[in-house]
Amino acid sequence: MDKQWFASQVLHARAMATRRHSMLKSFFSAAALASAVIAFSAPAAAQMERVPDRPAGEGEGPYDTLLIKGATMIDGTGAPPEGPVSILVEGNRIARILRGGADIPADRVIDASGMYILPGFVDTHGHNGDPSKAPQPSYGFKLWLTHGVTSVRGVGFGFGPDDPSLDQKRRSAANTITAPRLFAYTAPGDVWPNGAVGTPQQGREWVRWIANRGYDGIKFFNNEDPATLAAILDESDKLGLGTVAHLGQRGVAEVNARAATELGLDGVTHFYGHFESLLDGAALPQYPADYNYLDEQSRFAWVARLADQVGDPGTEQWSAYIDHLIENDATLSPTFNIYSASRDVMKARNMEWHEKYTLPSLMQFYAPSLTNHGSYYHDWTSEDEVAWRNFYRKWFDLTREFKDRGGRVTAGSDPGYIYQTWGFAYIGELEMLREAGLTPLEVIQAATINGAREIYEPKGEEPPMGSIKEGKLADLVIVPENPLANLKVLYGTGHTRLNRETNTLETVGGVRWTIKDGIVFDARALLKDVADMVEMQKLRENAIMQSQQAE
Ligand SMILES: [Zn+2]
Repeated sequence: MDKQWFASQVLHARAMATRRHSMLKSFFSAAALASAVIAFSAPAAAQMERVPDRPAGEGEGPYDTLLIKGATMIDGTGAPPEGPVSILVEGNRIARILRGGADIPADRVIDASGMYILPGFVDTHGHNGDPSKAPQPSYGFKLWLTHGVTSVRGVGFGFGPDDPSLDQKRRSAANTITAPRLFAYTAPGDVWPNGAVGTPQQGREWVRWIANRGYDGIKFFNNEDPATLAAILDESDKLGLGTVAHLGQRGVAEVNARAATELGLDGVTHFYGHFESLLDGAALPQYPADYNYLDEQSRFAWVARLADQVGDPGTEQWSAYIDHLIENDATLSPTFNIYSASRDVMKARNMEWHEKYTLPSLMQFYAPSLTNHGSYYHDWTSEDEVAWRNFYRKWFDLTREFKDRGGRVTAGSDPGYIYQTWGFAYIGELEMLREAGLTPLEVIQAATINGAREIYEPKGEEPPMGSIKEGKLADLVIVPENPLANLKVLYGTGHTRLNRETNTLETVGGVRWTIKDGIVFDARALLKDVADMVEMQKLRENAIMQSQQAE
């Protein structure tokens, strides 16, 4: 979408909205109103829209020389903060780190005195959404960038034969779209024209096929028999593809997280498969007699009760399981945030960013529903919330203990479900990693170098991003406040603080600039674009409603 056209449409639509319904009716002839409705209507909600080319002026650079002057640096490796430093970027690379904050001439200078600079964040669990809730992937891409996320692993960005992942990945790599770096994972058999992947032989052929296409890895949902899974894992290992699994409950009796990591699975996302590996004195989880996997209220309410069926943290059983994960080099991307509504659905529904930044269609998708995945709180009670809070305690313990023993934890947000809107959801995950017991510095490490390594280790390469180091890609986040003191300053909506001099509320923080591949994005301008998208959708819906009333 052309940016100027879009801006004029927003202005025009805003002007319309200020008129009352009756005035609107007289303002437009019936025919003009009909055409306005057509202009405002989304394309038939069946397909994702194409991501628009990046317009001139959206992002500046890369520059021959860009100096970011005077910031405190948190380099992502786990090293303590230091400052002031000045960082010289040449093209898309970090050329020099000048301790002491030297001022040297450059084509562009960003004065970041008093601010903090970090490596761009990595979201290891991304999706694009679907046409009914967020038809334009640019919505999520901009929200990610606004929150400092410069790399996303899509697991997957889309599914089926029209999966746009590879096209978007290439366009993002060329910076012809405004988006984080995209790493494309796909699920067994998906996008393949040759039918099912049901045997080890088919599994290997499918892996070779996706490797040739340019995919970075595989996302499993636990639908494969163990022999086929083993073959796919073996073949992907040979070809340098990464693997991560959502070990769905249908397959968990045959393959839990212990078994999957033993077969060579690289990463476990969500909680699925862990607790089934820790069952206390039973081979299978116990389900209530009326349990129904397809009834999501039943399915997700039960999840929390699974925690009661495993022993306590600190027991021999836990110890042995955590050792097993570490010996098998597993990476955990827990995505705590995506289930956070389960412990407080009222809070999730009323998050302060929904009004301005969550698309109405997305808000509708989030509402309790029999058909929308994840909208499971049909009759969600305080009993359910307490059960989930108890479940989280064990899940947090497992994750922290795994980290303490040297295991790698990464930050993934799984946005677009359960009131978790892109970008905001990612910062929410950082807050929950903190709650699980990672220190603030460990949270940043999880969000940066750990995520980069989870993506690049299967390729056999040291990641080109994920830390601030001379020679690395210039993927950087600049934020005016100290995120180690308060992760909330990373939210696009900032952090609310009382000024004790004036007794008035102030909003501080919010990422100021996100730099991807040497291109400087004004995080606030991107957030404004998102607000416009949301407003446009609201106005369109109003116009449609009014035209229906007028008929
Ligand atoms: Zn997901």
